[in-house]
Amino acid sequence: MGEVCLGIDLGGTKIKGILMKADGLIVYQYSTSTGNNLDNLFEVIEKLIQESKNLSLNICSIGVGCAGLIDHKNGITIESANLPFLKRFPLRDTVYKFAGIPTTIDNDVKMGAIGEMFYGEGKGIEDFVFLTLGTGIGGAIIINGKVYRGISNHSGEIGHLNLQTSGPDCGCGKQGCYETLASGPAIVNYVLYGIQMKRDTMILEKVAGNISKINPSLIAELAEKGDRLCLEALTESARYTGKVLSYLINILNPEKIIIGGGISEVKNILFPIIRETAQLYSLVVPFENCTIIKSGLGTESGVIGAAQMALLKYKGIEI
Ligand SMILES: [Zn+2]
Repeated sequence: MGEVCLGIDLGGTKIKGILMKADGLIVYQYSTSTGNNLDNLFEVIEKLIQESKNLSLNICSIGVGCAGLIDHKNGITIESANLPFLKRFPLRDTVYKFAGIPTTIDNDVKMGAIGEMFYGEGKGIEDFVFLTLGTGIGGAIIINGKVYRGISNHSGEIGHLNLQTSGPDCGCGKQGCYETLASGPAIVNYVLYGIQMKRDTMILEKVAGNISKINPSLIAELAEKGDRLCLEALTESARYTGKVLSYLINILNPEKIIIGGGISEVKNILFPIIRETAQLYSLVVPFENCTIIKSGLGTESGVIGAAQMALLKYKGIEI
């Protein structure tokens, strides 16, 4: 009987699950919406277990990546803004009791970095930073081929670096965090403010006056067609990211900074500005030694990393 690991990416809106062999081959995948409790997570696990039986494969280990603050060592989800039912919850032991298979849990961005390390842009790289740009901004730091965790596994909260002393309110309770200035909602807010200021833009016509339909991919589409306001919104976001990257480059001297998340799909506009701004504020030698690149695994890095972490745990390797 062959063996597979089960990887789960438990996000605010969607749960993704995969069965992955030790060589990284994904043999089955299943996704559903997250819902308001653990029922859908159990449904995904049940479905994957059933499928492993159909394929005559034995699941050796489970890895669950979850948004928010996660106590990896004790298997407890401390707090997750989009998953309120997981506040101080023993998720690892709950999944273990349900499935009867050894389980490990970690923060979703740390799982994403592990995915990149084994199968993406981080392959063969000992020192890199993984940054996700989306509705929120997350980060994970890899040093000497291991996840840098800090004393309570809260390392890599790059989205909450303060860039403006009295900037917009952040979900973390502070003001002016990088996330409030450069995330998807920040890009949308920039355009909405422009509309309020009667700036010239094609986007109102595009959404037939319904401003709730304005989203980052639409803004990117119009920016590429030369809409000044949309281009400015993305440029502003990219400049903040470039500035933050210069901090990471000067502090950590990483070989690569890998950028994932939905916003990274707008790479043609964002990446040249990100690189230019990072160069402006970085020391010369660390900048020259750092490659700033888009994630190769896209939105799949988290679930692949979760399965990989399950495999490493099974082999007794701490990462
Ligand atoms: Zn914050």
